[in-house]
Amino acid sequence: MALYGIWGSHTVESCPLNNADSRKVVLSAPPDLESVAKKYKINKILGTYHSPLEHTFLWVVDAEDPFMVQQFCIDAGVASFNAAKIVPLITFKDVVEKCKHIG
Ligand SMILES: [Zn+2]
Repeated sequence: MALYGIWGSHTVESCPLNNADSRKVVLSAPPDLESVAKKYKINKILGTYHSPLEHTFLWVVDAEDPFMVQQFCIDAGVASFNAAKIVPLITFKDVVEKCKHIG
């Protein structure tokens, strides 16, 4: 298991709430997104959080390969109107465990 955060942002003008092309991308997302994601070695989508007024989002995924997560973002259209970065994550519990083994 490897956790990754997909951090994204778009402009007010390209927001799917304001822009018909972006909205079309969002509405074309398959209802079985999780099974599509599995084709990109994304084992589970753990969270999909959006801030509508900041026009940012954070998705948390359990995935095998960050480059396949990147390809998922491209193929799913996410990258067509969002700037995105994919960041390896650990949990707070992991931080505590690491702290226990320092010095
Ligand atoms: Zn927006």
